[in-house]
Amino acid sequence: MKIYDKILFLIGIFLAGAMDMALGNFIAHCMIKFFGPVEHVMFTYIFAIAFALLPDIDALLQRVSHGKILSNHRNWPHWPLLILPIIFFTINIFSFFYAVLACLCLFIHYIHDSVDLQENGGGIEWLAPFSDSQYQISIKRIKTEKLIVEFPKEKIEKIKKKKETMYRWLKKYYLKITENSLLGILALITSLIINIIW
Ligand SMILES: [Zn+2]
Repeated sequence: MKIYDKILFLIGIFLAGAMDMALGNFIAHCMIKFFGPVEHVMFTYIFAIAFALLPDIDALLQRVSHGKILSNHRNWPHWPLLILPIIFFTINIFSFFYAVLACLCLFIHYIHDSVDLQENGGGIEWLAPFSDSQYQISIKRIKTEKLIVEFPKEKIEKIKKKKETMYRWLKKYYLKITENSLLGILALITSLIINIIW
């Protein structure tokens, strides 16, 4: 990858994470407002944003195991039934406040990944490890279909066969003006304005 492509790749990653960062920032702000004050304000925001992004660590793991990141990377870090209890009970040893904050940020990431506005849709495996079906919240097609759509494993495997690289996916949806890139930036700016005025 040339240096120009690397810079574009990083900008794309930032834009793809913008919505999760905005949501993490907003949740931290609400938690501090309603259940604060906290001792380390800056740490609390960074902690929340980190947990709002954390499930996508499977993209990094894929990079290590496959040598490249595929856009359909969702794996065990995207299994709410496994991750939420582990994170909650681990962090709760130290702080109930931060345990709740971490779980809310993870939960909002899972919801965000489940709405069908997401271009690498298909939702996530909400019931894993008990079921390997993926579930998606259908917003765009709400009038014609069920609100929650189930995708069986076979259907997901077919989608995954496309094996688009992360860079091509970023170029398609985030490195130009699209619904995804605009919503992400807008959400991030809005959450920063809320930080200042509220
Ligand atoms: Zn994700």
